Amino acid sequence: MAKLPSGSGLIFKVALPVPIYRLFDYLAPDNTSPHSVAPGMRLEVPFGKGKKIAFLVEIVRHSDLALDKLKPVTRMLDTQPLLSAKDVQLLRWVSAYYHHPLGGVISAAFPTALRLGKSALLPTQKRYALTEAGKTIDSLQLKRAPKQKALLELLQTQPPLSEADLSQGCVNWRSTIKQLLDKQLVEIIYADTTSTVTRLVNDDALPCNPQQQAAITAVNDSLGRFAVFLLEGVTGSGKTEVYMQIICSVLARGQQVLVLVPEITLTPQLEERFRRRFAVNIAIAHSRLTDTQRQTAWLNIRQGESAILLGTRSALFTPFKNLGLIILDEEHDSSFKQQEGFRFSARDVAVVRAKMLGIPVLLGSATPSLESLYNAANRRYTLLQLPERAGAAIAPILQLLDIRNKKIQEGLSEQLLAEIAKTLAKNEQVLLFLNRRGFAPTLICHSCGWVARCPRCDANLIIHSQKKQLRCHHCAREQRLLDQCPACKSNELTALGLGTERVENVLNTLFADKTVVRLDRDSTQRKGSLENYLAQINQGQVDIILGTQMLAKGHHFPNVTLVAILDVDSGLFSIDFHAAEKLAQMIVQVSGRAGRGEKSGKVVMQTRRPDHPLLTTLITEGYNSFAMTALAERKQALLPPFSYQALLRVHAADEEPPQLFLTTVLELAQSIGNHSVQILGPVAAPMARRAGFYRYQLLFQGSKRRELHTLLEALMPKITALKLAKKVRWSLDVDPVDLY
Ligand code: ADP
Ligand code: ZN
Ligand code: ZN
Repeated sequence: MAKLPSGSGLIFKVALPVPIYRLFDYLAPDNTSPHSVAPGMRLEVPFGKGKKIAFLVEIVRHSDLALDKLKPVTRMLDTQPLLSAKDVQLLRWVSAYYHHPLGGVISAAFPTALRLGKSALLPTQKRYALTEAGKTIDSLQLKRAPKQKALLELLQTQPPLSEADLSQGCVNWRSTIKQLLDKQLVEIIYADTTSTVTRLVNDDALPCNPQQQAAITAVNDSLGRFAVFLLEGVTGSGKTEVYMQIICSVLARGQQVLVLVPEITLTPQLEERFRRRFAVNIAIAHSRLTDTQRQTAWLNIRQGESAILLGTRSALFTPFKNLGLIILDEEHDSSFKQQEGFRFSARDVAVVRAKMLGIPVLLGSATPSLESLYNAANRRYTLLQLPERAGAAIAPILQLLDIRNKKIQEGLSEQLLAEIAKTLAKNEQVLLFLNRRGFAPTLICHSCGWVARCPRCDANLIIHSQKKQLRCHHCAREQRLLDQCPACKSNELTALGLGTERVENVLNTLFADKTVVRLDRDSTQRKGSLENYLAQINQGQVDIILGTQMLAKGHHFPNVTLVAILDVDSGLFSIDFHAAEKLAQMIVQVSGRAGRGEKSGKVVMQTRRPDHPLLTTLITEGYNSFAMTALAERKQALLPPFSYQALLRVHAADEEPPQLFLTTVLELAQSIGNHSVQILGPVAAPMARRAGFYRYQLLFQGSKRRELHTLLEALMPKITALKLAKKVRWSLDVDPVDLY
């Protein structure tokens, strides 16, 4: 052990945003008192030839390195830690579990500006107000505590006071106000500074049905301790109402709530409902906000100025002053899993965070993930069910439409066209779902069989007719649409297959007097365009809505009474075992858009496989039966959640290095020797070439989570140290949600 250094005698172990799996030791600034520093503070340190922003993780008195090798910290950026000890504990857990360097994990928890070292000051907005008891008490009762008496009298003559107001009026007000808070004479309110609202809610709650009430009571009863609830409620069953009523109980306890949603397209509607219901300050966090907006939201939550944070997966790491509940809406959605860089599952980490904090988590979905249903079956999670639609809405009827040997016009069977016409004649809306954007997925030469392929990917180029382009959906490639075959010079190029643009064209022809709106990534690229379309639809200006998976998510279309899934078969055959689950969820979610108002809805699925067990189970017995069947199959095959996986992906511009790298990793893993973990591969990725890179993978699978992670822990530093590791790009995906 090295000798104590001069100066403060303290050594800071810091995390740096670099891809290295360890902490770095620095000498604390002179005169640092151990009481004035804490993990979670940002600081600046010399690193290499320059300087870097680092995060303080541990304060120790000795280093394994020689002291004269340690450099001093350049400067401290914060006087208060921005993360609490619990936050740091969570991030360390996450770093260990996902085998991702701690510096990268901590960076991900900060908004960009703070990550880069900007000031974390925010004008304070918290206010102190009298409780009912505080308003009625005679201040003379506090005559033995003159400071408290004076402060109480001040508050009795004033509206709620902010910290700034209090600092002007009194010295040492913090300890005095704490005593008044303890006596429940004063309370903190998280209200907008622009208003003087002291209420928590604006709008009244709806009277609940018994199932909703049971769900609310179950969660309310567990506030203040760890528990996981799975709220399985069909679309329109009133899950959001349940969330809002539980949130209200949490707010009444003076605690904050984190609500995570899969995608930003969902936030405007939810945000609006929350703002209508709650009078408290609501912070929003997602990737389309500006850096400043995100930083303000982050700081507001950290300081307790905002009581509710509504955000997408990365909002999970926001530090809270007093978090009381985490809600994950649409918990099955794969966008809760970050698919690049630091690959974490916001759902799984939310459960860990709640456990560390001793608070409940509520996972909600109409189509829960198999993992969560399995956890509910094991009683690790408490299952709460809302089997019926709330209010007057009626569940839609699902039906398969066998289109074998039927006449089809651009993907629409005659029978479906008749249904569409019938619905439109009643002045009701139709929703058509096709999960493929563009005009058609294949451009083929009728004379010689040439097909337009992306030169950089193992994929066809997609025809986009409006822009007159051929585009690859896997890399950035775009080129002009051809009218002559490059192989044989014939002019007989044919568009094969179906995309949303193509269906839009035929709908415009067949229903010329009706308004068709296409919703996909191409048609909604401009900021605000999706919101515009949604408004038009809700105002009844649109007759036919056509779109991709964008439609499956969260939107309410009360006047839609017919939903059609044009090509359900395309999802039936996949090499990835997750595909069946995703298809079933997609079908149920799209179906849920129908008949949410008082009119009943109908869902039609065109198929050439009307006997496929997935489809028949889903239709005749419902999602839950499908899920139980799928779980039984996974158990047989020892697939997750009956085993644990990690996927090592690698790509490089040349073909050999990825293979060589994975073979070396395989040998390393075998030399560590853990026979309970199976290692499959190396194999080429399902899409073996993408954006010019050759892609390979190695799959680790173990029946015990602990054993898989013990192996990975031993393996990761060895992988990082490989020379080959610098010639390829690689990443480890723990609990992968797809195998591509
Ligand atoms: P979900 O989130 O499960 O899709 P919502 O909470 O959005 O369901 O509820 C669907 C519709 O039913 C909303 O218009 C909501 O206002 C209404 N609703 C919810 N609960 C009730 C209730 N108890 N009584 C009447 N209407 C309700
Ligand atoms: Zn040709
Ligand atoms: Zn490509």
